Formats: sequence, structure tokens, C-alpha cells
Amino acid sequence: MEYISPFSVLDAPRVSSWLSENGFAPRFSRAHRLYYSFLRPFLPIRWRQAIQRRHWLRIRPLPDFVDPEMVHWVQTTDHGRRIINHLYPKPFRFVYTLTHDVETAEGLARVPEIIRLEQRFGIRSSWNIVPFKYPVDEGVLRDIRAAGHEIGVHGFNHDGRLFVSHREFDLRARRINEILDRWGAVGFRAPMVHRQLEWMQALNVFYDASCFDYDVYQPFPGGVRSIWPFIAGKFVELPYTLPQDHTVFIVLNHRDATLWKRKTEWLIRNHGVVLLVTHPDYLDRPERLNIYADFLHFLTNQDGGWHLLPRELAAFWHEHWGRADRSNLRQTIERSE
Ligand SMILES: [Zn+2]
Repeated sequence: MEYISPFSVLDAPRVSSWLSENGFAPRFSRAHRLYYSFLRPFLPIRWRQAIQRRHWLRIRPLPDFVDPEMVHWVQTTDHGRRIINHLYPKPFRFVYTLTHDVETAEGLARVPEIIRLEQRFGIRSSWNIVPFKYPVDEGVLRDIRAAGHEIGVHGFNHDGRLFVSHREFDLRARRINEILDRWGAVGFRAPMVHRQLEWMQALNVFYDASCFDYDVYQPFPGGVRSIWPFIAGKFVELPYTLPQDHTVFIVLNHRDATLWKRKTEWLIRNHGVVLLVTHPDYLDRPERLNIYADFLHFLTNQDGGWHLLPRELAAFWHEHWGRADRSNLRQTIERSE
């Protein structure tokens, strides 16, 4: 298997086949297509939840959501260690980026409260909003921008059918591009992190954040096994690297932030990017907000953390590492030694 390094540049026409040849590609199988087209829309939500719960019980995630193989080349080669020591400007040792997907109008109404909580920790985050599902309150969008946070686009209408066919995707991509323009957004995350990076080249985005390093609880498990961004065709891919709040609070029923903290410690040791997805829809009660606040307190107290919005992280990666080939990489390392 080939690993995606921080400097992987996948050219646009081959991005999905490259991923699939290396075992990373999510596949919309015939069964998936049938489920999302014909079954899911008619299943009562309780049934859907019961099916999901049975599925989750069968899953055995790796401890702390860490697959040690992901950074094998860093830990076992001198070259790998030298590279990751020079990923970020000094004195930074790791990056942390907070993102949110807003699933409902109730979630959107909760955004200002969570922004206030994040401001206590000096955090700015991104808010991925579904354009064609619930009424989008322009006042909340203004609040997000005024606070220095970022707005991204979260799919089309969140019905699970965005990737059901290439034709359907292209039809929706045109409308999504209009919304990106209208909102001044440059980032995208697909609902349920369904993804097909080759089709997604039709989106006018600077980055996508629908991939993850390791997450066995998603409908398309195929993690890219990279704890760093990489170039996927015309955009920067920002994989998320911590389990989602839904996984922690609902699937695993945890009552504290231990899992997030432990994986964060491992990411910091390996100079990775700490990238979290939470939802205002699940940060809906004081206990969960307290867990989130506890994690932010922990995160912002680690030495060497570089706090970036996703669009800033994508810009940094594109500029510094997007075109890095082996020779200019070696020069960078030699210059800084
Ligand atoms: Zn969503």
C-alpha cells in the first residue's frame, strides 16, 4: 500500500482512481444506491436508528481511533522524521482547526451561543451550512462573519443522494457553486461524508473536508490514513482527524472528552493536524457543551499549537507544500537545519 504523505499531490483526472488503487476510495455500491434512493426516504426514522445501532455494535474501532500504520513512515524512517519536523513555521508543532456541520434550523439558531463559548478560548471555527434544506437565517451568517469565523457549504439538501449518480451530482454542483459564490465560501463538506473526489472537481472550492484519516463509523469507511492535508486535483483536501461528536456522544455514549484528548496527544506527537467536526445539533445540552469546552481548554493549553481556520490551513498547505517535490523539500529541510 502507498501512503499519502503531507506532500501528496494527486492530479485531478486521477484523483479517485489513485485513491481507490491504494485502498482509500469510498464506493457507492449498488446496495448503497438502492438504500439511499429507494429505502431510506421511506423508512421511519426510528427504524433507521435501530438499523444503525445494530450496525454500530458490530464495529470494533482501534484504540483511541489511532491506526499506528498511518504514520509508519514517520516513525520508522529518518526521512519521515526530518520532514515532519519542518512542516510548520517555528515554533509551531501542530495545527488545530475546528469545524461544524449545521444539520437543522435549530442547530443554526444555536450557532451564536457556541461562538460565544469558543471566543472564551480564542477559537475561530468554520460553520458548514446546508443550502437547500432549512431556511438559512442571513442574520446568523452575518454573526458568523462578524465574529471572524468562516462559512462553508454542507452539501445540497442532505438527503444522502448527492453522489447517487454522476449526473445527479453535476446538476446539484451547479446550484452549490452559486451558493458558494453568494456566501463568499471557499470550503465544502459533504453530508454523511459521502465523497467522490473526482466528481467533486466540479465544485468551485479551494478546499474540501469530506475525508478523514480513520473513522470506521461512516457509511463509506475508507479513511485516507493521512493526518495531514494533501492536494486532490484542483483543491486542498483537509481530512478530519478526531472522531465526530455524534460518534463520541451517541454511538459510544462517552460522558467526557478523553477520547478526543488521547487522539490529540498522539496527533501532536506526530505533528499532525487536529481537525474536529462537531454539530450544533448535538452540542444541544449543557453536559455536551461542557465536554466540548473541556476539550477546547485542553487543546488551547498544549504547547506549539497553531490555530487556523480551514481556509487558512488550506492556503498555507497550498502555498508551502502544494508543489513540493523531493528536491525543493530537501532544500527546505537543509535551509532550516
Ligand atoms: Zn451533516
